[in-house]
Amino acid sequence: MPTNVMILGAGFGGLELASSLSERLAGEVEVTLVDQHDDFVFGFSKLEVLFGRQSAEQVRIPYRPMRAPGVAFRQEKVLALDPATRHVVTDAGAYDPDVIVVALGADYDVAATPGFADGGFEYYTVTGAERLRDELRSFRGGRVMLAVLSIPFKCPPAPYEAILLLHDELVGRGIRDVTDMHVVTPQPAPIPVSPQASAAFERAMGERGIAYTTRRRVYGIDPAARVARFKDHDEPYDLFIGIPVHKVPDVLSDAGLAEEGWVAVDPRTMRTGYPGVYAIGDCTETGIPKAGTFAESTAHVAADDIVRSIRGAGALAPGGTGLCYMEFGNGEVGRVDVDFHAAGGPTAPLLGPSSEYVAEKAEFGATRRARWFGA
Ligand SMILES: Cc1cc2nc3c(=O)[nH]c(=O)nc-3n(C[C@H](O)[C@H](O)[C@H](O)COP(=O)(O)OP(=O)(O)OC[C@H]3O[C@@H](n4cnc5c(N)ncnc54)[C@H](O)[C@@H]3O)c2cc1C
Repeated sequence: MPTNVMILGAGFGGLELASSLSERLAGEVEVTLVDQHDDFVFGFSKLEVLFGRQSAEQVRIPYRPMRAPGVAFRQEKVLALDPATRHVVTDAGAYDPDVIVVALGADYDVAATPGFADGGFEYYTVTGAERLRDELRSFRGGRVMLAVLSIPFKCPPAPYEAILLLHDELVGRGIRDVTDMHVVTPQPAPIPVSPQASAAFERAMGERGIAYTTRRRVYGIDPAARVARFKDHDEPYDLFIGIPVHKVPDVLSDAGLAEEGWVAVDPRTMRTGYPGVYAIGDCTETGIPKAGTFAESTAHVAADDIVRSIRGAGALAPGGTGLCYMEFGNGEVGRVDVDFHAAGGPTAPLLGPSSEYVAEKAEFGATRRARWFGA
């Protein structure tokens, strides 16, 4: 009898896990891959939408052509989950699989920042990126504040990528000299694991006259007065862009899987404390940043452990590795190869930035697309 594996969430982690299990356990597993949406969008494609390089329709990749053997995709919303009995309820039915892998990503808690829903902009959703793109079209200059509203958040480079690309856009429109730009973050540096990448982002912002404040949080905004509220002062803005507060999806807190805020796992196996229940990607707490490349790495660890538990033997991937491409504006992309478990401590050297990595970044997306969707 094949083992029934149900993967909840067809994002970066869920798609990679479904492909891995299909390749490695053909005939030994039946995989059901569930997602509330009928299409997938790469995180980095939201920058494409924001800066009008591609439309929302162009970046959506429909799940339906997915043809991985042994994998059935179902567009259903997960409503409830009992990890102790491995019982899953969706808006279309109920399931009792042998193995559950939770890959539901991170949600946004926009209401956690007073005033943000009414007067702020974000580009972490496709709709938000479209709305900010349209707002930028009518922007004529002023004070732009881009604030990281809490940690952890997805893709640590994304705030810096956006501000550098926005600088280029405003230069191109001839309004950069009438615009002040300011990035605010609670973090001590842009990419704490990579001093080289941090220095490169700080240099790039400095060269472009973009102000940068670390270890400070914006707690809310007052859209009527157009001020951002810090702990001890207010600061005016004309356009406020926030990286929203992130949270674990409610269905996972309701299931009692996220008592510490995110789903606790053993990072060597990606098992939760419940037999036959794994969690991978952004919904987990592994001490590693939230990014597609690390979600992929956790999918490989879980795949190894599932293979090992079905076949009774097999090695485990170390996890904690990833390849990040970072937009620096001016047609340049940098590349960081991160290894959180390197002997002697994490390593994350920066290559570039240069125009040479633009094609490599496109190839990174294209290979995933071909692997997951066969197109
Ligand atoms: C602007 C931006 C730029 C980024 N750039 C990069 C980059 O260059 N490189 C990189 O590695 N990462 C990047 N990321 C981060 C990356 O997108 C995420 O870290 C990654 O997608 C996490 O993968 P995941 O599988 O854990 O979650 P996700 O990919 O978010 O997938 C979770 C899935 O679960 C589904 N889901 C949630 N709740 C339910 C439910 N109740 N029922 C059914 N389905 C549900 C969602 O629809 C979603 O498809 C970027 C993110 C943003 C926002």
